[in-house]
Amino acid sequence: MKSIAVAIDGPSGAGKSTIARAVAGRLGFVYVDTGAMYRTIGLAVCRAGVLLGETEKIPAVLDDGLKVSLKYEAGTQHVLLNGEDVSSLIRTPEISKYASFVSAVPAVRAFLLDTQREMAKTHNVIMDGRDIGTVILPDAAVKIFLTASAQARARRRFLELQEKGETVTFDEVLADMVQRDHDDMARAAAPLRQAEDAILVDTSELTLEQSMEAVEDIIRRALEV
Ligand code: C5P
Repeated sequence: MKSIAVAIDGPSGAGKSTIARAVAGRLGFVYVDTGAMYRTIGLAVCRAGVLLGETEKIPAVLDDGLKVSLKYEAGTQHVLLNGEDVSSLIRTPEISKYASFVSAVPAVRAFLLDTQREMAKTHNVIMDGRDIGTVILPDAAVKIFLTASAQARARRRFLELQEKGETVTFDEVLADMVQRDHDDMARAAAPLRQAEDAILVDTSELTLEQSMEAVEDIIRRALEV
């Protein structure tokens, strides 16, 4: 049987991963977080001693037998760097910057393309990222562009960070968000944009539960499941 793919794209902090993970669980689909793959390459590049901006040093890191793979335990995605589970190591502010940096390099995008397409060939997936509906899975059965105003996304991220006890100001979080939006949309390689046939979901005024319901509803209607 042919597998079914749902593509969810959008800017940082729109709630893509939380929503995609939950809805995938409800529908029995595999959730693929492609951001984690870019973060893993970011980690490898950082560990290799490459500084942010040293783009010319990245191909050597990729060619050095680098392997990024995914494994699932109880439905949760783990990402492996040369067999090492780095799932928690990639969630730091420094690696977020490295992920953004490496994601603008065409060789990095080409490196991850096959792994991402292969996942969609072999499983029913909900895949989230920036270019899933536009580049990776242009024939996805359902495409959703999930967004929210920069203010709303920054407010959520700020509350999350406060809960973790981190000392940041709202203005710093907002500035970081605006910068990442700009970097993702302005890059030449697979920039963030809404696919023509994607359905727009703006979660600025929605709670998390309402956002999940909206996304699940769109998918169920489209797939009639
Ligand atoms: O989604 P997440 O914040 O974990 O992604 C980390 C970075 O990877 C993003 O800032 C974005 O630049 C990049 N990314 C990308 N294409 C994807 C997924 C993530 O360029 N499909």
